[in-house]
Amino acid sequence: MLRLENELPDDRKFLVSTVPPSRGQVRLAVWVLLALVLALIVTVPFARVPLNDTQILLPAYATAVLMAELITSALLFVLVAIQRSRAMLVLAAGYLSTALLIIPWVLTFPGVFGPSGLLDAGLQGTALIAAVRRIGLPLFVLVYVLLKDSSPTEGDLSGPVNRIVPGSIAAVVAAICGLTWISVSDDALLPRLMTDTSRVSAIWSYVPATASVLCLAALALLWSRRRSVLDLWLMVVLCVWLIETFLLGYISAGRFSVGWWAGRLYGLMSASLVLLVLLSETTTLYARLARSVSAERRTREARLTTMEVLSASIAHEVNQPLTSMVTHADAGLRWLQREQPDLDETKAALKSIVNDGHRAAKIIESVRTVFRKGAQDRFPLNVNGLIQDVLGQTQSDVRLSRVAVQTELDGDLPAVTGNPVQLQQVLTNLVTNAIDAMSTVTDRARVLRIRSGIHEPHCIVVSVEDAGTGLDAKHEDRIFEPFFTTKSYGLGMGLMICQSIVESHGGRLWMTNNLRHGATFHFTLPVDETAA
Ligand code: ADP
Repeated sequence: MLRLENELPDDRKFLVSTVPPSRGQVRLAVWVLLALVLALIVTVPFARVPLNDTQILLPAYATAVLMAELITSALLFVLVAIQRSRAMLVLAAGYLSTALLIIPWVLTFPGVFGPSGLLDAGLQGTALIAAVRRIGLPLFVLVYVLLKDSSPTEGDLSGPVNRIVPGSIAAVVAAICGLTWISVSDDALLPRLMTDTSRVSAIWSYVPATASVLCLAALALLWSRRRSVLDLWLMVVLCVWLIETFLLGYISAGRFSVGWWAGRLYGLMSASLVLLVLLSETTTLYARLARSVSAERRTREARLTTMEVLSASIAHEVNQPLTSMVTHADAGLRWLQREQPDLDETKAALKSIVNDGHRAAKIIESVRTVFRKGAQDRFPLNVNGLIQDVLGQTQSDVRLSRVAVQTELDGDLPAVTGNPVQLQQVLTNLVTNAIDAMSTVTDRARVLRIRSGIHEPHCIVVSVEDAGTGLDAKHEDRIFEPFFTTKSYGLGMGLMICQSIVESHGGRLWMTNNLRHGATFHFTLPVDETAA
């Protein structure tokens, strides 16, 4: 069963082993490969020229490969700890094995640390280690590819990673020690891979052949299952490994020829490629993470400022009806204290006090809805159901205002997680505003259109479109500000509250003017992945 990227938990979505490669990365991989093939074509005519400078070059080569592959395996083991993936464990163990195998290989290599190598190795020991190494890496990559798309339950490591990782490292080290011991203990028991210190025997031809078959199989499987940046570069590594195998096995004239040394260079290349990719991708992802953290901090700070502005505005707005109430109450008292009390004026003053009282209560009520108890309770919801509820509740307003309602609701709309009361308030606000905006329209049909659908991969979108007056361009930036209103009876709190509710649900609310008449308000909400 395939595991798609959007089914992964958040902490795994941004790893080099899960992020799909961009077009640029694929292009770079192809260029690297072409350059390496070109280098091969240039090398082939000189491949059989002898070039013997073993004592300096081989230990330097082995150290470079050892370091590159060791660091690669360390980074892959870190990915194992995060991803808990069996496939990644196999790949990390594979890189560790090829890294460690280079140690006995160079130590036993004839002519490097002694005429027949260190550790009392015979002629065949070094070749046996080289053969295991040559076949080992493509084999590990093949197993990695076979395991990498298994389902989370099958593909995830079941035990604690802080035991599995050291356990695997110990197993690899033990296996390499065992192989080294076999290679140096009794040369007579080993397969006859070499005829002398520089030329291979006929049996050796099975080694490059097996390695090539494994490489091609792993390449084909990786091609069909490629998903991530890591997969892309593992394919390049396998191609380089294949070139190296051909150079060493078929084109060069045995050890120390130009072809053999070129093969070593390709070996160094294949050892470093994944490391370079892991390092560059980690740095890029780290930079992206740092940017998103600072953007989030800026949003939080901006929201704090909005809250400060809001509380100051609320104090100001509530103060205004209170002052007006006191003034009207004073006036009412004066009208009553007259010798001939003026009851009509007193009634008018009392009416104003009642209106002011209602206005203050409305301001406080609208703020309370945002912070109301239970406002944070969230459930999986079907937004189409909420839309139908709101249309039911606003039915009489719609009828009185002679508005025709049209709905285009996506029947397969995924669930979102949200607070039903708050989201209903958002919809009610947008619907009421739309009805208000069409109240003066007389020359065309008053149509309210509500749509729901999928927006981007992980969001749903709801749009509320009217055929009203639309919005003056000079007001566009202000409609979400607290207390901005163009209505004589308006409070100017509705859209501000809608925006803060939608944003607290992880969505976005915005407005567009329609091409002909009216405006459309859109809001997105993230899909509830667990319910899906
Ligand atoms: P209120 O409705 O109390 O004025 P809102 O915050 O809901 O407060 O709206 C702020 C302003 O945005 C409105 O006064 C109006 O000018 C504008 N507005 C909102 N919805 C629409 C719409 N559908 N069409 C045109 N203008 C709108």
